[in-house]
Amino acid sequence: MPSFRAPRGTRDLLPAERPGWARLERLAAELAARYGYREIETPLFEQSDVFERGVGETTDIVEKELFRLAPRAEDRETWALRPEATAGIVRAFIQHGMQTWPQPVKLTLTGPMFRYDRPQAGRYRQFWQWDVEAIGDAGPAVDAELVELGLRFYRDAGLPDVDVLLNSIGDPACRPAYVAELTAYYRSIADELPELERRRLETNPLRLLDSKEPAMGNINLDAPKITDRLCGPCAEHFAAVRAHLDALGISYRIEPALVRGLDYYTRTAFEFYRRGAEGQQQALGGGGRYDGLVELLGGRPTPGIGFALGLDRVILALEETGRPPVPEPRPIAIVCGADPAATAERLRVATELRAAGLPVRAELGRRKLGRQLEAAVKEGARFAVILGDELAAGEVQLRDLHAASQRPVALADLAALLHRKTPPTGG
Ligand code: AMP
Repeated sequence: MPSFRAPRGTRDLLPAERPGWARLERLAAELAARYGYREIETPLFEQSDVFERGVGETTDIVEKELFRLAPRAEDRETWALRPEATAGIVRAFIQHGMQTWPQPVKLTLTGPMFRYDRPQAGRYRQFWQWDVEAIGDAGPAVDAELVELGLRFYRDAGLPDVDVLLNSIGDPACRPAYVAELTAYYRSIADELPELERRRLETNPLRLLDSKEPAMGNINLDAPKITDRLCGPCAEHFAAVRAHLDALGISYRIEPALVRGLDYYTRTAFEFYRRGAEGQQQALGGGGRYDGLVELLGGRPTPGIGFALGLDRVILALEETGRPPVPEPRPIAIVCGADPAATAERLRVATELRAAGLPVRAELGRRKLGRQLEAAVKEGARFAVILGDELAAGEVQLRDLHAASQRPVALADLAALLHRKTPPTGG
């Protein structure tokens, strides 16, 4: 037999891990609702074009990392798994005429994304993002709102020490001149550039700024900075974003080399890092403004801004800080019985308790009562409901597994009693 394994770069999230993820998903959903973002789901795959245009053909994400689905002979379209959420959400915005909805349209989505990346810690081929988009608002206040929302998520998740890196990457009015100047700078020192970067220079020179090649460190120190070359309106917008962040008491570091990998970004770009971990090149999350994207995908010109926070990296960071795992929910009671064969009775009583809203497990096997109770204790249940001869008279034995005490209880009172003993859920 072959020994099958999850594909390279993917993971099973096992029952013991899922509660930690569920906690983050709940937090994301709760914060999104609190800030007025409405939930949307888009397909896990789209026409490849949505990403080729919407993310950019010269980005790593499209050039190297797109999971393309093999087309069948009869297909007239080609598809790819979504590497990020923004392009699909903007496609949906246009398709459903959301430009006629009250603006801005604030949308949120949490789910898996797919990139054919080289797997390593914190870098997977299937990973999860919490994504938030505000479409139809040119800013600058909403830019600051998003940065604040991201920081609140990290803080409430248990990561208070998160730094914000902030930049403006200009717009079509000022970026071309800057890119030309940057290209000229790199060309003037072309023989010092690593091979990969020399090639990239011809397709997407901005990418050289966030190059991971060590040799680029000093070269980039002397590179012209976009923040010195913004046009009037971009400079004004950037100053206003900073003023709004200042008004919220949020500190940030301006990072002129922060250009992010995606072509559609304009003006505000930001990334979140664990304090002191910037050197690892692993952002916890990032976002930015994409005022050109709706038009690029076929809609009317509409500004927009959003962020994507990677949940995998938050889980990793929480583990590294030694935070105890979120416990799995436990049944309040296990329905056991003295007669191993009486599975129908146990199932019926458990079904009644479940219908009353109680998390209970029924012992549906045929092991002896002693074994049933041992299993109940191992599972962390508080009570065992033990069915015996008294059932005919409408009574069961309720065993408190913590106190190791036992007493008869009328079946009619059992659900109410267990409800009173059920700890409130949360956390
Ligand atoms: P990006 O769209 O590349 O800026 O990604 C936004 C966030 O998603 C990053 O900051 C990471 O937290 C997360 N992320 C991106 N790619 C991966 C990956 N391959 N594995 C895990 N998380 C990722």
